[in-house]
Amino acid sequence: MNRLVIFWVLTGALTWAQKANYTGYKLLRVTPETTEQLSYLVSLSLTPDTARWPIEVNVLDFWRDPTRLGGSVDILTNYSSFLEQELFSKGMSPLVLMDDVQSFLDKRKIENADSIAAGSRFTETYHTYEEIIDYLNQLANNNSLVNVSKIGETDQSRDIVTARISSGGDDTSRPAIYLECGMHAREWIAHSTCIWIIDELTTLYGQIPEITGLVDRFDWYITPVSNPDGYVYSWLNDRLWRKNRKINPSSSCVGVDTNRNFDANFGGVGSSDVPCSDTYSGPSAFSEAESRAMRDILLSLQGRTKAVVSIHNNAQVWISPYGFTTERPADYAEMERVMTVGAAAIEATYGTEYPFGPGSEVLYVTSGTTKDYVYDTLGVVHGYTLELRNTADGFITPGTLIAPVATEAWNGIKAMANAIV
Ligand SMILES: [Zn+2]
Repeated sequence: MNRLVIFWVLTGALTWAQKANYTGYKLLRVTPETTEQLSYLVSLSLTPDTARWPIEVNVLDFWRDPTRLGGSVDILTNYSSFLEQELFSKGMSPLVLMDDVQSFLDKRKIENADSIAAGSRFTETYHTYEEIIDYLNQLANNNSLVNVSKIGETDQSRDIVTARISSGGDDTSRPAIYLECGMHAREWIAHSTCIWIIDELTTLYGQIPEITGLVDRFDWYITPVSNPDGYVYSWLNDRLWRKNRKINPSSSCVGVDTNRNFDANFGGVGSSDVPCSDTYSGPSAFSEAESRAMRDILLSLQGRTKAVVSIHNNAQVWISPYGFTTERPADYAEMERVMTVGAAAIEATYGTEYPFGPGSEVLYVTSGTTKDYVYDTLGVVHGYTLELRNTADGFITPGTLIAPVATEAWNGIKAMANAIV
C-alpha cells in the first residue's frame, strides 16, 4: 500500500528515533459514497492542502488508499480529532479501527510470543529475519526438493535469500514461477504467506496430487524476505517501517521504496523524488540492492519464467501491468483470463472478493514497480502484484489471520499456475 507521511514539524523524527512510538495514533476507516468524497480523499492522499491544518497533524498515513466509491479507506493519523472533523464536514462518518495504535502493537507482540511459547506452528506465527533464514537452511538440509541461495546482499550486509523448490534436480531448463514477499517491511503477513507456500510445497509434495503436479511442472523460486534491513528494523525499531534502510546522502530521512526502484517508467507518476516520502524511488533505477537482487535472479531465469508474483498487504486486489499508464498491455486478455481464474479460486475459499485488473485502474498509478518491469523488460506475461486481504488490523495483522489469508492467496496462486499454458 501507498503510504504518505507528512513531516512538516517532526521531519525525520520517526526515522531516526530508536523506537517509534504510536501512542495516541489512531487508525480511521472511511468509505467514500460520492465522487466528491472520493476526490477529496484522493487529493488528501496525494497533495494534502495543509495550510489551515493545526501544526499537530504531522502524520497522515494511508494504509488503504481511496480507489473507488464504496471502497473503504484506512488512514493512520496522530491527530484524529481534526481529521475526523474534516471527514464529517465532507459528509463522511469515520470509524475508529484502532484508538491507540501503540497498544495494538504491544498487544500483537505479546500474542505472537505467547503463541510461539504455546507451541503454535511455525507457519502460523511471525518470525524474525534470523529465524526465517534458519528455517530455510534447515529445510534445505532436510528436504531434497529445496535449495537455498543468496541472490543479493543489503547495505547492512544481510543476505537476500531465495528458496528453489524443484523435483527436477540439476535440470535448469524447467519452467519457473517466482514469488517474492516483504518488499515493504511492515507487511508481515506477506512474508508469512511466502513461508506458508514454501511449507505447503515441501510438506505436501507426494501427498497431494495437485501440489505434486505443480512441483513436477514448475521450479518454484520464492524470496520470503525481499527487504531484510527494513524487516529487521520493523522488528527492532519501528513496526510500521515500509522502505529499505538506505542512507540517503542528501537527506536525514532514511530509505528507498524498492517497489518504485525498478526500471519501468522510473521516477514517474506515483513515485516520489523526496527521500522523506514513503514512496521515494531512489536516485536511479536499480540503485538498491533489493531491486537488483530480484532483477538478477529473474535475468538468470529468463526464458523460463512463466509467472512472477509480488505479494503485498493489504489492498485486497490482484493487479497486473500497467501501473504507470492506463494504456492496457498487449497481452491483457491473457492476463485477465488468468486473473479471473485466480480471483475466483480465492473467493471460493472463504468468500473474500479480490477485484482484479491493471494496477493503474484497480489501485492507483505507480511507477518503477516489479510487475511492469517483469512484463515490459523481461517479457513475462504473468507479472502480478497480489495485495492480500484487507482487515481491520491493517499492517498489524494478528497471527490468527495468517492461515486464512495465506490459504486463500495460495489457492489463487495455485489456480494461476494451473491456468498457465
Ligand atoms: Zn506493499
